[in-house]
Amino acid sequence: MLVVAAALVDRAGRVLVQRRPPGKALAGLWEFPGGKVEPGETPEAALVRELEEELGVVVAPTALTPLTFASEPLADRHLLLLLYLCRVWAGEPQALDATALAWHAPAALRGLEMPPADLPFIPALETALARG
Ligand code: C5P
Repeated sequence: MLVVAAALVDRAGRVLVQRRPPGKALAGLWEFPGGKVEPGETPEAALVRELEEELGVVVAPTALTPLTFASEPLADRHLLLLLYLCRVWAGEPQALDATALAWHAPAALRGLEMPPADLPFIPALETALARG
């Protein structure tokens, strides 16, 4: 299963995370917004779609910069999660598919409960955002 996620970064260098709603897998955990790549979709097109569905923001595919990936074995299949950086979008992010949104400095993400596949992204974000 191929999943794409975005680190939206604001002007203060903080990163957006959302809390997964009850009833979904990994309910209550904080994640980088995103979701599954559908058959026939490019990863970037999937992420543009997911960001509009989940946050109500409009992102240009060219505003998505690949940062890193994580590989995670699940019960019945394998998850490959691609993380993109995004600093430019239109609209104010809203929790359309989550119970809450929060902005955190990369180091502060370490205090959150996140899905296992998202955890390796924290040091990658700290390094990338420390470079400015
Ligand atoms: O959001 P959605 O349920 O479509 O995501 C599919 C799966 O991808 C989740 O069940 C979860 O295992 C994984 N995922 C993740 N980290 C994210 C987004 C999704 O581990 N940031």
